[in-house]
Amino acid sequence: MALLSIIVPCYNEEAGVEAFYARTSAVCAALRGVETELLFVDDGSSDGTLSRLKALGERERGVRWLSLSRNFGKEAAMYAGLEHANGEYVAVMDADLQDPPELLPQLLELVRGGGYDCAAVRRVDRKGEPPIRSWFARQFYKLINKMSKTEIVDGARDYRLMTRQMADAILRVGEYNRFSKGIFSWVGFRTRWVETQNAERSAGESKWSFFKLLLYALDGIVAFSTAPLAIASVLGLALCAGSFFAILFVIVRQLVWGGSAFGWPSLVCIILFLAGVQLFCIGILGQYLARTYLEVKKRPIYILREQGGDHGEGP
Ligand code: UDP
Ligand code: MG
Repeated sequence: MALLSIIVPCYNEEAGVEAFYARTSAVCAALRGVETELLFVDDGSSDGTLSRLKALGERERGVRWLSLSRNFGKEAAMYAGLEHANGEYVAVMDADLQDPPELLPQLLELVRGGGYDCAAVRRVDRKGEPPIRSWFARQFYKLINKMSKTEIVDGARDYRLMTRQMADAILRVGEYNRFSKGIFSWVGFRTRWVETQNAERSAGESKWSFFKLLLYALDGIVAFSTAPLAIASVLGLALCAGSFFAILFVIVRQLVWGGSAFGWPSLVCIILFLAGVQLFCIGILGQYLARTYLEVKKRPIYILREQGGDHGEGP
C-alpha cells in the first residue's frame, strides 16, 4: 500500500499538538488505499512540545518525530521533514489546525487520480486578521508578482500534498534562504488549487510578528527577483540624464545672463537627495550581497538533534 507522509513543523505548540493529532489521525484513519505517517518536526521549541511529541510517538502507531538542535525557522523545519519523509506522497501541514485536515482526502484524490503532481490550499479570505496586516500582505503579493517571473499565489498556504517526485525536486533546491512559497512554484509541476476559508489558530500564538513578516517579504523579493537591482540602475541612469540637462541649463544661463553663483539652498537639497538615492541603492546591493554571502558559506539548512517514533530511536 502507498504511504502518505504528513510533515508537521512545530515550534512551541505544546498547547495544540494533542488536538492536532486527534483531529488529523481521525481523518487519516478514514483514508482509503494509503497508510499514513505523521512526521512532526520540533523546530527547537522551548516549551514542552518535544516531550509531548515523544509521548505521542510512544503511544501511537504511525507517528515519528524529528527534533532540530535549535529554532531554524519553519522553512528549515519543512526541509528537514521532506528529507526524512518516507512516503510516496508527501503533505505539509501546520500544527495549529489552521490547515483543516478534513481537506486531506480531497487533496489525495486530486494527486492520485486527478493527474496532478500537487494539490495545494489557498485561503480566499483573511478573516480574523488585523486589516493593516491584510493590506500589506495584498500589496506584497501584487509587488512580488510584478517583479518576479515565478508566480506567488496570494493566500497560498504552505498546506499541500505532492508526489515524491515533486518533493525530491524541492529538496534539490538546496538554497539556504528558503522562501517556500516561491520554491513550490519554481519547481513547476501541475498544481491544483483548492480554496478554503481562513481558520483561526486552535491554541497558542502565531510566531509571526508584523516585523518578522516584513523581513520575510523582503526575503521573498530578493530570493525570487532581481528587479530591485535593475530599478537601482535605471534610477542612477535617469538621475545622470537629469543632471546633464541641469548642467546645460546652468551653462546657458551663465552665458546669456551672466551673474554669479546663486541658489545654494537648492544645491544642498540636491546633494541630500542624491546621497539618499545612493545609500538606498547601496542598500539594495547589500541585500543581495548579504544573501550571496550566506549562500556561499554553504551552512546546513538545519541540524538534527534527535529523532524517534515509529522507526526506533537514534539516527
Ligand atoms: N513554525 C516553525 N518554526 C518557526 C515558526 C513557526 O516550525 O520558527 C511552525 C508553527 O509551529 C506552525 C507553522 O510553522 O505549525 C505556522 O506558524 P504560525 O501558525 O505561527 O504562522 P501563521 O499561521 O500565523 O502564519
Ligand atoms: Mg498558524
